[in-house]
Amino acid sequence: MSKFQAVLFYKPKKIKLAELERKDLHKNEVRVKILYALTGGTDVKTYLRGHPKLIKETPSTFGYELCGEVIESKNPKFQIGDKIISANTVPCDKCFFCNKNQAELCENLEFLNGSFAQEIVIPAALAKVNLYKISKTIDPKIAAFTQTLAVCLLGFERTHIKDNDIVCVYGIGAVGQCFIQLCKTLRENVTVVAIGSSDIKKKLAKKYKADLVLDYKKDDIEKEIKKLYPHGVDKIIEATGKPEVWQDCIKFVRQGGLINYFGGCPKDSSIKISTYDLHYKEITLTGSFHHTPKHIQQALTLLQSNVIKVDDLISDTMELEDLEKALKLMIKGEAIKVAIKTSH
Ligand SMILES: [Zn+2]
Repeated sequence: MSKFQAVLFYKPKKIKLAELERKDLHKNEVRVKILYALTGGTDVKTYLRGHPKLIKETPSTFGYELCGEVIESKNPKFQIGDKIISANTVPCDKCFFCNKNQAELCENLEFLNGSFAQEIVIPAALAKVNLYKISKTIDPKIAAFTQTLAVCLLGFERTHIKDNDIVCVYGIGAVGQCFIQLCKTLRENVTVVAIGSSDIKKKLAKKYKADLVLDYKKDDIEKEIKKLYPHGVDKIIEATGKPEVWQDCIKFVRQGGLINYFGGCPKDSSIKISTYDLHYKEITLTGSFHHTPKHIQQALTLLQSNVIKVDDLISDTMELEDLEKALKLMIKGEAIKVAIKTSH
């Protein structure tokens, strides 16, 4: 087979299945048959409005979360038949930020873009640092979730959650659900207040042991939280990416508490912060973005050992030609993540 199928992005809301020519492998590169690619929030954003970093020219392949099988290798570390997961980026390990041990902010992140395809070539730099063989027992669909969990693990680290904390997870899509599980499994006696609206997601939050599930469309969030916790909550993980939610969070974090603005908002949006709140109430505001190779490894370990369970977060399985349908389901809130089955 010298040709393979891939979905190409042409412009916002225009994607199409196309045939691409195979390119020869260079030294240390690996060719992977994609078993499953998962849809994620970034794919939805790309579909709706393009992406400044991922889509540099059109038409372009896209998609960034995958699990696959090696079908050709010029890299001695990987053999034909190895099942792998790959991160979508690799840091340079040389720049200012990499030297500060903040590889997620690397100035020279190399991106891998194109999991919505039958196959993909993993570049040498990525194969060296962020390509991992997976166990024989893990379901490839679950393994494909590694990257999403890695981003959550970096976010969890930045939120400094301690045993006995009261944590609010605002936004209960795939990442919010991971945060609920991380609070409940990696710490002792953490109380989780989850906030969402979709019935499926509220039900899942309860399944993952959120202590209280509020509905932002029905409940007065500040009032409900203050009723139970008059001082406010210790930590908030904002996972909606809506500036109005960012703003609201300041009302129910306790003095001395911390808000992690995990959900990225549209460019040029802003919120107002009172200097009084920051100084006299000692509120810490932070963000967290992306992942590092360390978090990718940790995420894979947590999935392979079944400590974090994501089966329910992959709500549907569809074929490559149905990708647009899958993205539309996500936009309507009717799917959490869709596994795109890409092997033929
Ligand atoms: Zn770097």
